[in-house]
Amino acid sequence: MVKYAFATEEQRELAEGAYKIVKNELEPRIEEYELADGGLGVYPMDVHQTLVEAGYFALSIPEEWGGLGMDMVTQGLIIEEIGKVDAGFAFAFAGSGCYFDRILATKMPDEEKQMWADKILAGAMGTFCLTEPEAGSDAAALKTTAVYDEKTDEWIINGTKCFASNAPNAEYFIIFAWTDKSKRASQGVSAFFVEKDRGVQLGKKENKMGLHLSETSDVILDNVRVPADHMIGEPGKGFGMALGGISGAGAIVNCAPLLGMSQACIEQAVEYTQQRRQFGSRVVDFQAVGFMIADMEMRTQACRSMVYDALRAADEGVKTNLDLCIKAYTSDCTMQTALDTVQVMGGYGYMKEYPAERWMRNAKIFQIFGGTNQVKRKNLLKTMIERDPMKARK
Ligand SMILES: Cc1cc2nc3c(=O)[nH]c(=O)nc-3n(C[C@H](O)[C@H](O)[C@H](O)COP(=O)(O)OP(=O)(O)OC[C@H]3O[C@@H](n4cnc5c(N)ncnc54)[C@H](O)[C@@H]3O)c2cc1C
Repeated sequence: MVKYAFATEEQRELAEGAYKIVKNELEPRIEEYELADGGLGVYPMDVHQTLVEAGYFALSIPEEWGGLGMDMVTQGLIIEEIGKVDAGFAFAFAGSGCYFDRILATKMPDEEKQMWADKILAGAMGTFCLTEPEAGSDAAALKTTAVYDEKTDEWIINGTKCFASNAPNAEYFIIFAWTDKSKRASQGVSAFFVEKDRGVQLGKKENKMGLHLSETSDVILDNVRVPADHMIGEPGKGFGMALGGISGAGAIVNCAPLLGMSQACIEQAVEYTQQRRQFGSRVVDFQAVGFMIADMEMRTQACRSMVYDALRAADEGVKTNLDLCIKAYTSDCTMQTALDTVQVMGGYGYMKEYPAERWMRNAKIFQIFGGTNQVKRKNLLKTMIERDPMKARK
């Protein structure tokens, strides 16, 4: 049941419709997907397609391009509900369908943009490729280059991206590359829309601790040529775009799945600790256990308020600094909630018979990707304190 107090009847119906699909089609087979491909895990493409056909994919594509142009709050509710079953799937599903605004920002002809809108609405997945082996938190250390070929009016892209979520299933890639190395990254890096069939190769599929339903791999660009009109936005503006806040689409991808996971943790903890008896009492009645569960609820409600506040602000075009707080806070809270769920279930929480151990493994990555929580804190602090004048003089 949708927990967001301000949800309308229509929003509840939409979100609960998505939940029913994943509950019925994904939940009974999660272990099968988790263990598939020699234990690397596989993205459940059949469930993806069922959700696509029910109209749940790429919800922000504007109506004039054939989409629903759905508001951020409703999208958040839908992804939260999907996240109750598996946050990794919710992350991959939402994340792989949120790039049409980047395609719109290219100079490709409208027919080509329409063709991509149609493909995406039919389920085509995309991938965001910023990180490189030597450029993680320090994204400006990226090495990928794009060189303009005047003769053919094309960009020639070379480089290797790593840890790209959804890359093994993607039909197109958002690539960040240097177009002018004489400048700083904020002026010398540009973004490109690159279709897979232009010669993009995939590297090894990663063997991860969790998030097995979201496949991750290297993306290799070896003299890949794209027409000049595939640049996203203006030359040199790619880096700012890559690091842009996560208050809107980013909150849906990075935070809404966590609200669902936290909710699932709470429901599991409440149910289990009421049934489990030790020393003649329900374990929920031991205050040490019960208070952990009460804290889970407090944290989750606080995160929910913050996430939907950010989404409402994004819908109304209001600028807030929530994007600097939201991802780190929500993922730290969810990690604690997942850890505590295992704890209150004792040894059974540690067993694969229950989903708590999967939630714990899945929660961890949300503190790392999309900018680590240390880097988020660093950036937040920067907005709160004045620049050191002694340093500024150097
Ligand atoms: C499963 C998974 C999926 C991912 N998906 C994508 C994707 O789709 N697209 C994409 O582009 N990238 C993706 N990433 C990459 C992800 O964003 C990076 O892993 C992340 O930004 C951290 O970079 P790093 O791993 O190189 O860690 P590092 O940057 O090497 O950090 C190591 C440690 O140092 C800390 N640290 C670094 N710099 C500072 C600093 N200045 N101050 C304080 N602490 C600091 C970090 O917080 C961390 O604890 C994914 C990663 C994973 C694991």
